Amino acid sequence: MRILVIEDEHKIANSIKRGLEQETFAVDVAYTGETGWDLASSEDYDLVILDLMLPGMSGMEIAKKLRGQKIHTPILMLTARGQITDKVEGLDAGADDYMTKPFAFEELLARVRAIARRPKQSLGTTLVVSDLTMDTAHFEVRRAGKRIELSAREYALLGYLMRHPGQILTKGQIIGHVWDYEADVLPNTVEVYMGYLRNKIDRPTPDKPELIQTVRGFGYRLGEKK
Ligand code: CA
Repeated sequence: MRILVIEDEHKIANSIKRGLEQETFAVDVAYTGETGWDLASSEDYDLVILDLMLPGMSGMEIAKKLRGQKIHTPILMLTARGQITDKVEGLDAGADDYMTKPFAFEELLARVRAIARRPKQSLGTTLVVSDLTMDTAHFEVRRAGKRIELSAREYALLGYLMRHPGQILTKGQIIGHVWDYEADVLPNTVEVYMGYLRNKIDRPTPDKPELIQTVRGFGYRLGEKK
């Protein structure tokens, strides 16, 4: 199994390389985003370990570009706490898994093995709730086939709702999954964003059932009214 490590911190990159080589993996290292992109897009790797914060091209850009070119090499993303604005975003960018630095090498190894066991091409799922679809490989949201443009945050919020269709989600749960720990988010912010989503998802189709339900005193639910 051949692994590419894209990480600008030499110490971390080299210790991952050494550790994986002891486990008999073949490991290449790229210390910049550009070199990493060149290698990941031209060589055939079984896994890319990708740091999020890189000078030049970021890990998120690399992941998106790879998926955009239909390169489905599994990606394990490395992030420092608070770097990634939300978990949904990282996974939707095309990462299969991610780890927060610092981490124990044993944990990295366990995840590398787990990813290695998965079949290739299992990525890029479409979420469906009623006539609303989200193609997470291409960041496309459609209602009744019609394309809807969303901001990154709206997309993350809708992604969270679509992964829990029919469930009542509290504002606290939504904040915890869509915003990072350091963001100063008030419950009111959730209402504001729900308003944006309603305007884009329910408002343009008055002849169709509303999908974003407010459950008074509890939170929100995605799906047709019960
Ligand atoms: Ca870095």
